[in-house]
Amino acid sequence: MLSGIQHFCFCKRSWSLIHVEQLWEENYYTIDGMIKHEKVDNPFIKEKRKNIFYSRSVPISSSKLGLNGIIDMVEFIKDGEGVNVPGKKGLWKPYVIEYKRGKEKPDLRDISQLVAQVICLEEDLNCHIEKSFIYYFKTNTRLEVDIDEEKREFVIDTVKEMHDMFENRITPDAEFYKKCTLCSLYDLCMPRITKKRKSIENYLYGD
Ligand code: SF4
Repeated sequence: MLSGIQHFCFCKRSWSLIHVEQLWEENYYTIDGMIKHEKVDNPFIKEKRKNIFYSRSVPISSSKLGLNGIIDMVEFIKDGEGVNVPGKKGLWKPYVIEYKRGKEKPDLRDISQLVAQVICLEEDLNCHIEKSFIYYFKTNTRLEVDIDEEKREFVIDTVKEMHDMFENRITPDAEFYKKCTLCSLYDLCMPRITKKRKSIENYLYGD
């Protein structure tokens, strides 16, 4: 799943617990994020202005990355250098808009998800997207992100590592980090005591 890249960049163990071991636990942050996404993700809300329209909950996939997922919103702006969109006259340039509950992060987790979405959308629409946006609810800001080569290469390398770990069913050992207190999987992961455990399932159900 494409959304897994944000978990992977936050903590590889958290990604593995969710996507390899299929474990999940909600906390305040995950539920608040879900509520904030409700309006954004509603495909029946249509918005259109002169020379601009929005599509919500857009399904995407990429054979290059081996990922699929859903984009919160795509903004299409009428532009002679854009692409054809079924049911629309003229040419349109697409820009991904990803919505996040909090504020801008010091790491690449939000940006890598955005870049992966862009690569998928480019493949689906056969186009090149030079920038896209992340909207942060907490600060009410729209961050413009250049989709440059460096970020694309980071995403391609990260996704390759995700596939390798998934195929080999790898769950990294737990380490206690400051960020663990924000993690919804804290009680399942038990980072202070599971350092040597390879799999949380072994801990819960093993001998
Ligand atoms: S509690 Fe910490 S080590 Fe465990 S999954 Fe969450 S962030 Fe990773």
